[in-house]
Amino acid sequence: MSTFPTVALDLGLALDNRFVRSLPGDSETGSRRRQVEGALWSPVLPTPVAAPRVLAHSPEMADALGLDDATVASTAFANVFGGNALAAGMMPYASNYGGHQFGHWAGQLGDGRAITLGEGVAADGRRWELQLKGAGPTPYSRTADGRAVLRSSIREFLCSEAMHHLGVPTTRALSLVATGDAVVRDMFYDGNAAPEAGAIVCRVAPSFIRFGHFELPYARGDVALLRQLVDFTIARDFPHLAGEGEGEALYGDWFAEVCTRTAAMVAGWMRVGFVHGVMNTDNMSILGLTIDYGPYGWIDDYDPDWTPNTTDAQGRRYRFGWQPRVAHWNLSRLGQALSPLFDDITPLQAGLDAYADTYARLDRGNIAAKLGLPDCRDGDVALMQRLHGLLQAGEVDMTLFFRGLADLDPAAPSLDVVARAYYDAEKRDRLRGEFDAWLRHYATRLGETGESAEARRARMRAANPRFVLRNYLAQQAIDRAEAGDPSRIIELLDVMRRPYDDQPGREAFAAKRPDWARTKAGCSMLSCSS
Ligand code: AMP
Ligand code: MG
Repeated sequence: MSTFPTVALDLGLALDNRFVRSLPGDSETGSRRRQVEGALWSPVLPTPVAAPRVLAHSPEMADALGLDDATVASTAFANVFGGNALAAGMMPYASNYGGHQFGHWAGQLGDGRAITLGEGVAADGRRWELQLKGAGPTPYSRTADGRAVLRSSIREFLCSEAMHHLGVPTTRALSLVATGDAVVRDMFYDGNAAPEAGAIVCRVAPSFIRFGHFELPYARGDVALLRQLVDFTIARDFPHLAGEGEGEALYGDWFAEVCTRTAAMVAGWMRVGFVHGVMNTDNMSILGLTIDYGPYGWIDDYDPDWTPNTTDAQGRRYRFGWQPRVAHWNLSRLGQALSPLFDDITPLQAGLDAYADTYARLDRGNIAAKLGLPDCRDGDVALMQRLHGLLQAGEVDMTLFFRGLADLDPAAPSLDVVARAYYDAEKRDRLRGEFDAWLRHYATRLGETGESAEARRARMRAANPRFVLRNYLAQQAIDRAEAGDPSRIIELLDVMRRPYDDQPGREAFAAKRPDWARTKAGCSMLSCSS
């Protein structure tokens, strides 16, 4: 490692690299592909790139890390976040985890194209880990190259920050760096591999530990390593629990918190219309953060059966409407992995029950907030179910409908406020009577609350975003960037920084999916090739 360049870069982060300092590592350095036993990480350096160039960065994330504009604009920054140099104190590594993919145990997976540069504490006391995605091969790259293409990197960079601003727990993104190197990908898995522009995103989170980190030592019967990782995770990532007890009681409390955090994340997804697309257990964060933005997508017309992931087109396991139950299944896999630490698995069952209870409560909260009600009664659940049925049958845009509904006058309920949300005039006309009946019912319920129109509007506008990162918007930014103009990435990021504000002049970014985007690759269909 000594020959790798180190540059002066003023990070406002005191790097303590706790993960590598506290947990057992691999004795071999470098990217020779291998099974790594008895270790949770492998030391590996980024592979240098031809010409690192910062295309975009997140101002909020730079701020949180204590990086000023001059630093972000420096050559040193491009070199470090393009993988060509390290800053003092960084200890790069790839971590070792397994996972269930599409319902099946897949064995060791690990950071095949992610390399953590360092981990530490910012001036405000918050912990952050800096991780490059696409910085070259690691021991876990299996048959792949460890790289990422520009299109998928733009999507991860933008969506990480968009989700944060929407108030949904997520890993973050600091920077998007073009590498100047080509990456070969077979985008449609049809034998037509072609070179594409490469890029590297620097992801940031308090922790990148996944369910799969616990599943792998469990699968290998390495209970000592499993226990060591659990103790470390509680101490570093759940410090408020440490001292609350010990042994099974502490582990039980911790598992319950993982369950409730996961419920909060999924409830956030369902509120804003986000479809993760690849909810494998290696893509589930122990902190309940949305992680690994691959073939994700956003609901345009409301459809609980939709998935953007063409690799999952057959079973559609990860369809929008199934996400709450898939999260429960994934938590069950985590619970199973933790079971050797328990004599009595009652606390694990209690954690799973806490997931179900928390999700049910948050779902009711979503119903109340989205409909602008002070609370959610049983009748409101039915009201929302009927609406969902109508939105699906009528091919109605989810985001536009709920945002428009805030403007309804309960004294004179009219579909005019949601006129823009319909994709199909024939379906709209056919279902007009049913929509009108629903609106009257809803208006009556609003009348019963005794609340002012202003209070209701405020509640609805805080829960129903005006701007989401629609698939076609991201694709437009990608098309332009691939043609040499990255300005749309920055503009789109800027819009997504205030998703609940109206932002006059930026109406185009709130427009429903245009017809051309309905079946275009990247807009409605995404493969895992990234
Ligand atoms: P994903 O489906 O993106 O969550 O990836 C599943 C596994 O494949 C993880 O272990 C990734 O690190 C690995 N992987 C995905 N793409 C690449 C790549 N281009 N190079 C190396 N490993 C990869
Ligand atoms: Mg992954």
